[in-house]
Amino acid sequence: MGDPGGLDIVIAGGGTAGWMAAAALARFLEDGSRITLVESEAIGTVGVGEATIPQIHNFLAALGIAQAEFLAATNATFKLGIEFGGWRAPDHSYIHAFGATGRGSGLIPFRQLWLRGRAEGFADDFGAYSPNGVAALAGRMAPPSPQPTSIPDLVTAFHLDASLFAAFLRNYAEARGVRREEGRIVNVEQHGPSGSVTALQLEGERRVAGDLFIDCTGFRSLLLGETCGVPFEDWSHWLPNDRAIAVPCASSAAFRPYTQSLARKAGWQWRIPLQHRTGNGHVYCSGAIGDDEAADILLANLDGAALGEPRPLRFKAGRRAQAWSGNVVALGLAAGFMEPLESTSIHLVQSGIARLLELLPREAEFAAARATFNRVTALEWTQIRDFLILHYKANGRVGEPYWDQLRAMPIPDSLASKIALFEEAGAIVRDEGELFTEEGWGQVMIGQGLEPRSWSPLADTIPSGELRDYLATLVHAYRRKAAAMPSHREHVASLLGLSSMKEPA
Ligand SMILES: Cc1cc2nc3c(=O)[nH]c(=O)nc-3n(C[C@H](O)[C@H](O)[C@H](O)COP(=O)(O)OP(=O)(O)OC[C@H]3O[C@@H](n4cnc5c(N)ncnc54)[C@H](O)[C@@H]3O)c2cc1C
Repeated sequence: MGDPGGLDIVIAGGGTAGWMAAAALARFLEDGSRITLVESEAIGTVGVGEATIPQIHNFLAALGIAQAEFLAATNATFKLGIEFGGWRAPDHSYIHAFGATGRGSGLIPFRQLWLRGRAEGFADDFGAYSPNGVAALAGRMAPPSPQPTSIPDLVTAFHLDASLFAAFLRNYAEARGVRREEGRIVNVEQHGPSGSVTALQLEGERRVAGDLFIDCTGFRSLLLGETCGVPFEDWSHWLPNDRAIAVPCASSAAFRPYTQSLARKAGWQWRIPLQHRTGNGHVYCSGAIGDDEAADILLANLDGAALGEPRPLRFKAGRRAQAWSGNVVALGLAAGFMEPLESTSIHLVQSGIARLLELLPREAEFAAARATFNRVTALEWTQIRDFLILHYKANGRVGEPYWDQLRAMPIPDSLASKIALFEEAGAIVRDEGELFTEEGWGQVMIGQGLEPRSWSPLADTIPSGELRDYLATLVHAYRRKAAAMPSHREHVASLLGLSSMKEPA
């Protein structure tokens, strides 16, 4: 039973997950709960994880962090979406851009109008109807308009420096009373009959006791996995990539306001532009390619000089069968891992924290909260998993063994039925609580080259000439609006209070 003045909450691990949890709990728990975070500088953090999705704004706003302060503290840049290069064919690329694509009419989703326009031969590329995608490729960025306009504002996320982000959150959390204990956890004490965790033993014979433990110890999953024995659900038969090699490089002149995900022989490469460098990594399948070749591919495809030695990382796709067991809740890599193809891991930390805060009772009796947390978390992870598998299942790289195998693999029924629905007549239904919208699914399905056999009859209710004019008007309006925006570099400079930002030589 916790102290009537709140709970003793112990966060194990001080990577992105640990410090996000510490900052949010310190900001929102005003019931006298005491928060302690234990981390070990000798072990360190995973140090990657630099691309986010738009929901990051909710996290920063909830913590009262201003955008300009955040940008300066984390060397962040804006992200309008992800370019998938070479997934459909070696020389093809599309953008999964945030925000809407086009504008539907009444009950008719825009995607249906576009499918008909394409069949009649007058539609542009689907991406030409995305305000975000058009601005991204033009290297533009603009804040929301002060007045409502007929063209939607850009929907943004950030690229950020992972180490600076954790340091920034640490300052925030410590300023709000979070106590930090430096040192390696050498043992986890449990209460015999219940199995509840009672304390962490640290090197140097220190002990940190608590009512609730948040496991943010990374891939090791020291509390939830190792101590509580919660099994790992292995998803590597759907997502077989199990290694990455990461290296930063000097910034390129492009200063792209989007992440790049470029398909390679047996995996894909990310490029994440920050203010001071570009983050790069090659995610690959060790069964299909050797480590040396993977490193060579990465180093041959940097768009600036490498800064430091490439760093190898190993992982397995999947998740712990329950994210909350007894009095241990896992966040971040301790809860599971899905490759960063759609930049979802930091978001999963954020949504886990929000769910925990929403459900956390006043006293250390968690049974109902735990059951609900586990049910909703499982659903959230499997929905994202399906979206990631779609990228591989629908690849178009015929004749390459790794990609051929992925195209042929059996997929979860939940994804198979989504694909079947889309192939019938372009319909997409977002499941309850699902992170990715119909817009996101549509961009990836169309971008990867899935072909519906037909379109909704609703789209036939507009006369052909009108539809042609409407599609053309949208394309021109989005291009015009993007052309009038400042460049991404100018926009970041202005938020930082600089007259300009130096371009790389
Ligand atoms: C290759 C790769 C690319 C990624 N890219 C993205 C991306 O673009 N976007 C995104 O959202 N996510 C991405 N992620 C995921 C993202 O990096 C993580 O979700 C995020 O960094 C959170 O990590 P963490 O805090 O859970 O773990 P870690 O950073 O590993 O932190 C673990 C912490 O636990 C501590 N610890 C462990 N054991 C002990 C012990 N015995 N005693 C004391 N302390 C201990 C460590 O010291 C450390 O502080 C990526 C991950 C990988 C592997």
